[in-house]
Amino acid sequence: MLAGVPYTGQTCDHDVLAVRKPVSTATSSGIGDEERALAAAAAVGDGERFLAFEAHGILRLPTLPGATPVIESIPSTMRAVRKLRAEEGLELGTVPVPEPGPEDVLIRVTAASICGTDVHIYNWDGWSQNRIRPPVTLGHEFAGIVVAIGDDVSDLELGTPVSAEGHIVLRGARNVVAGAEHLAKDMEVIGIDRDGAFAEYVVVPRRNVWVNPPSLPDEIASLQDPFGNAVHTVHAQPVAGKDVLITGGGGLIGLMAVAVARAADARRIFVTDVNTRRFEAAVAMGAYETLDGRGDPVAAILHATEGAGVDVLLEMSGHSAAIDQGFAALRPGGDVAALGLPGQRIEFDWAQHVVQKGATVRGIYGRHMWDTWHRMSELLGSGAVDLSPLITHRISLSEFQVGFDAMRAGDSLKVILRP
Ligand SMILES: [Zn+2]
Repeated sequence: MLAGVPYTGQTCDHDVLAVRKPVSTATSSGIGDEERALAAAAAVGDGERFLAFEAHGILRLPTLPGATPVIESIPSTMRAVRKLRAEEGLELGTVPVPEPGPEDVLIRVTAASICGTDVHIYNWDGWSQNRIRPPVTLGHEFAGIVVAIGDDVSDLELGTPVSAEGHIVLRGARNVVAGAEHLAKDMEVIGIDRDGAFAEYVVVPRRNVWVNPPSLPDEIASLQDPFGNAVHTVHAQPVAGKDVLITGGGGLIGLMAVAVARAADARRIFVTDVNTRRFEAAVAMGAYETLDGRGDPVAAILHATEGAGVDVLLEMSGHSAAIDQGFAALRPGGDVAALGLPGQRIEFDWAQHVVQKGATVRGIYGRHMWDTWHRMSELLGSGAVDLSPLITHRISLSEFQVGFDAMRAGDSLKVILRP
């Protein structure tokens, strides 16, 4: 293109030509005359292409001569579901559309899903009171379209379908250097420590953006945050050909883990939970046997495994009794991946369950950046895992209260909000 022009244009996979300029210098009436002329010159230099421009300095040119230009208007304000006060509840408000910094992208959210964490924040429980600093826009599970990019972002095009890893890690942290970014101490979480995606637009650092295949439905793409927890947990140890027990397997991530373990060729998958409402779903996702945790699931599992116990325990409940049952049903030398978080200290028979049993126990937190995401892409893209049965509600952002009511009543699995 033109040497010395303060923005570049390049064709991309999505049949649009993106011309970037610093968003912060955009005027409400659109880009300036000088820049418009430069852009027009660029367009002419590129052939007989149609030129379109928009406020916020976003230009889109159709790659094919004669095609209709794609113009996406970015308003100055947007609707957002926010925690405004240190009390129960959330509110739908109007806030400015955030502007991306040099290393950020602006994403137009097309689908976001409500997480259990969001319900904690709604309820304003002890954890939320310690962690959340209102006002903040919630939402960390989402999918959308890139509609603006910062000046220093050169490898992402407008129109790209994306999701994002919610853990924004401080660069240079020791864990980052060690290849364990997801365990870095200094991190911000989207929708918790900074404004999130229960809004029409969200700003995310480019390095946290995950490009979704265009064929992946956005509502499925929005589930990759919790799905990543399930994939990370199941793949923390080999499960192929092994008997697997998922304690707390009737919850959302447990059900996802059933499907992932099934796709990874686990031999038999046992599920325990005290909430038996999702046992049908667990069987549909591939569970071999579902067991009510209030009964004696350990005896049933030992019976089914001829006294041996399961090879792998995936702990998803965070509840003391279920953890106890899980370890009691684990064979000596077995593997444990623990994702569930107890709300407080728990009693645990360390000698019997870990030391004498020779168990290998791994704590699971977040998702590997980006190994877990690659695995998810493969599982969803190949059709090995279908998450669509887990979506129980599809509503508009303004109906968020309906979604939170359903989540709080335990009547839903995944609620998709569409801005
Ligand atoms: Zn979540």
